[in-house]
Amino acid sequence: MNSQERSIHFLLVDDLEENLVALGAILKRDNLILLKARSGEEALELLLRHEVALALLDVQMPGMDGFELAELMRGNERTRHIPIIFLTAGSADGQRRFQGYEAGAVDFIHKPIEADVLRSKANVFFELYQQRLQIAVQRDALAEADRRKNEFLAMLGHELRNPLAALGSGLNLLKRQTGTEVSDPIREQMGRQLFHLCRLVDDLLDISRISEGKILLQKERIELQDILRTAIEANQPGLEAAHHEFRTELPQEPVWLDADHTRMAQVVGNLLNNAIKYTPNGGTIVLAAKQKDDRVEIEVKDNGIGIPAEMQSRIFDIFSQVEGHRLRSAGGLGLGLSLVRQLVVLHEGSITVESNGSDKGSTFRVSIPLCLRSTEIDKLSKVNHTEDENAIPIADCCGPKQSLER
Ligand code: ADP
Repeated sequence: MNSQERSIHFLLVDDLEENLVALGAILKRDNLILLKARSGEEALELLLRHEVALALLDVQMPGMDGFELAELMRGNERTRHIPIIFLTAGSADGQRRFQGYEAGAVDFIHKPIEADVLRSKANVFFELYQQRLQIAVQRDALAEADRRKNEFLAMLGHELRNPLAALGSGLNLLKRQTGTEVSDPIREQMGRQLFHLCRLVDDLLDISRISEGKILLQKERIELQDILRTAIEANQPGLEAAHHEFRTELPQEPVWLDADHTRMAQVVGNLLNNAIKYTPNGGTIVLAAKQKDDRVEIEVKDNGIGIPAEMQSRIFDIFSQVEGHRLRSAGGLGLGLSLVRQLVVLHEGSITVESNGSDKGSTFRVSIPLCLRSTEIDKLSKVNHTEDENAIPIADCCGPKQSLER
């Protein structure tokens, strides 16, 4: 049902029937259902059965008075946020302080009631409630659209995989046959395009796996340097083709991580790949890493086309691309950084970007927790042996070949 058509309930509580009738007459309007209760108990019963947008409570009632009823409403999760208008007989009632101000909207109207004042106050709550209903409907629609989009991406990825694999095998077969001056370059170009398509499909599948919580990290105690080596090797051809100067600034000592080698190499590899793509030929790219307390910070820095300030907060969102960068994206769809961030988060890490704007270069910084170095483990085992009370038990640091499922 459309939220606009949905009826809204107001609760009126007064021990006198004629007051209820009078209030009803003042408040009457389309799509408003007035629930009338002659006592606090009756009101609580109605509140159990209906969702209420506003409660008008007469303060002076025999038995449970309006304040007591309000306090009971505030004590219940379901009813604590219902706005309340107290109808008070005079100043004596107003003196008594209601204990639940902080829990939600509360207002007072003195008797004799002025119809216009009551109507306009009630209208505010009516409109507010209707807006809230509309927002809830829109939020549900958005969540549903997001779910469908994820389903579509997953299905697309799966459907594309088989034909791509067949094309790959076909190209491999062709490679074994002697080609011609014409066919060889065409086959090579097809191979490159196919490689690119496969990467896109793999990214799509990875993203949908992560959003479904299906990605499995193969965590183990590994050296950061190994991860970086894999990432550099994968990008060596790109670095050379673009004639970039490439430098590393890495710690001399091994840095130990509890991480998934393939996935972390994918993270750094992706950042390097972007640095290569978004830096004009002959640029400078630096891969640096340093330890900071119990974390390692990996930095990929380029002097390329940079990222405008207003895009920096959105750059890790799926399909997010800087206007005007598309020519350089080499057919990318804006999946890479979204995947990178999700993989970093799976490693309990974080990623940030820094750029002074267009043509001022970009720096991507990944921070992930360290695993203790082997030398420290050695030290610790000795300390443990001497039963130093500050020693960290060996079992608390990550052991070799740990595999975690997420
Ligand atoms: P893609 O490169 O496929 O478009 P990514 O998710 O890897 O997707 O990157 C998203 C966008 O971020 C890119 O389209 C580009 O606009 C911007 N970007 C990423 N890395 C850099 C970089 N090193 N320098 C400038 N812009 C970058």
